Amino acid sequence: MSSPIPKQNLPWWLYLKMLPSPKNLRNHPDLILEAVEQALVRARDLESLHAFVTLLDERAHRQTAAVRDGLRRGEPLPLAGWLLAVKDNIAIQDVRLTCASKILENFTSRFTATAVERLEAAGAIVIGKTNLDEFAMGSSSENTIFGAVRNPVAPDRVAGGSSGGSAVAVAADIVHGSLGSDTGGSVRLPASFCGVCGLKPTYGRVSRYGLVAYGSSLDQIGAFAHTSQGLFDLLRVMAGRDARDSSSAHEPPPDSRNQFSAIKHSLRIGIPEEYYAHGLSADVETAVRSMISKLERHGHSIVSVSLPHTKYAIPVYYILATAEASSHLARFDGARYGFRSEQATELTDVYELTRGEGFGLEVQRRIMMGTFVLSAGYFDAYYRKAQQVRRRLLEDFSRAFSKVDVLLTPTSPTTTFRLGEKLDDPLTMYLSDVLTVPANLAGIPALSVPIGNDSQGLPIGLQIIGPHFAETMILQLGTEVEGLRDGVSS
Ligand code: GLN
Repeated sequence: MSSPIPKQNLPWWLYLKMLPSPKNLRNHPDLILEAVEQALVRARDLESLHAFVTLLDERAHRQTAAVRDGLRRGEPLPLAGWLLAVKDNIAIQDVRLTCASKILENFTSRFTATAVERLEAAGAIVIGKTNLDEFAMGSSSENTIFGAVRNPVAPDRVAGGSSGGSAVAVAADIVHGSLGSDTGGSVRLPASFCGVCGLKPTYGRVSRYGLVAYGSSLDQIGAFAHTSQGLFDLLRVMAGRDARDSSSAHEPPPDSRNQFSAIKHSLRIGIPEEYYAHGLSADVETAVRSMISKLERHGHSIVSVSLPHTKYAIPVYYILATAEASSHLARFDGARYGFRSEQATELTDVYELTRGEGFGLEVQRRIMMGTFVLSAGYFDAYYRKAQQVRRRLLEDFSRAFSKVDVLLTPTSPTTTFRLGEKLDDPLTMYLSDVLTVPANLAGIPALSVPIGNDSQGLPIGLQIIGPHFAETMILQLGTEVEGLRDGVSS
């Protein structure tokens, strides 16, 4: 039987009613309430994508009224008109904070993350919490008690992880922007798979207060939006020192007085040869190289550079991230937070059974690996060695940035894969992050911008990596890339 819906090349959701832009809503504050309601309806209509785990109807309505009143009183509220979604490992007071884990399924946070607090104070409205890989461990958003997140561009494929729900909330036009966390690529990979922009800021640029720790020397809150300009608008509100996170940087947020404009001078763009190695899909490579040629024709100079320690990034990352995770996750023991096994009769049972029943398999695997690399006898061979190699990776980047302003690479070697395809093969799954983890290990900012589709119509992301605190520059270059992609740049 033929389908009553005519076949078309564009994704089906593009044919549904579009969300008005933040600017339009800001100029017509009376439409904000309608937009919020529409977003909540749309989130429910698209429930099958498993993007949201909690919708905040009442809270969003209260915030809408506050924003409207604020605008009437003439408050500046630079983010009035923005509708947002927040990854469910970032705390909001009196809202469930699950990390997509059984162990926190019924846990409610008593405070709000600084990043969310700042966005809301600037007029943004959060409509819900989004699905993720349990405790942000994964690359596909399939390790979750709420059902695997589906990619709106191709619903039989993964959205990427671990911030899959947040990427989908933007890609499916439910909200204008969203927050994710990026420890090894969890913002950039789903951004690339879903065809939206995603930024991992410099380590410490955005306060981690209220972000559930995975690997705290690598974790950073990041954001998704349709454009680099949108990411800049969110970043300048979120960034800046927070006394509640001692690792947050003193660097002031990107200057809001300066108009965010196109780059006026030509940049030296580095192409790290190690990122164009085997395993890179031909379509991805072609798209990235063609964008590089366009940038060259646009006056930027292209320089080949080498980051020789890149091949160690994945092993180093999976040693350090799991070591830190095994220590952070020790607090979930059935005593203070969330779930406690009902089978337990003695204290050691409480720990063992609670953790055995409460954590999913991938999280358990990470805890075991982390405990192993930290254990006496293996500490020097793995953990200490990994710290030393991390230093080398940082030096690679410092050397490269003495020659070039930014680095351009694919965000991921391939486009999105099928649901279930890599679930039974953790090593292959870990390799999805091969091009994203180096920036986390070095603590430097990196952006993923969609630059086109492969032969199957699946989105391809370009990664722009910059030196510490160079977010403005990489986002400006991101804007230029968007113009060249859309053919609107002069
Ligand atoms: N996929 C990587 C991991 O599983 C990165 C996750 C992340 O950035 N949170 O560790």
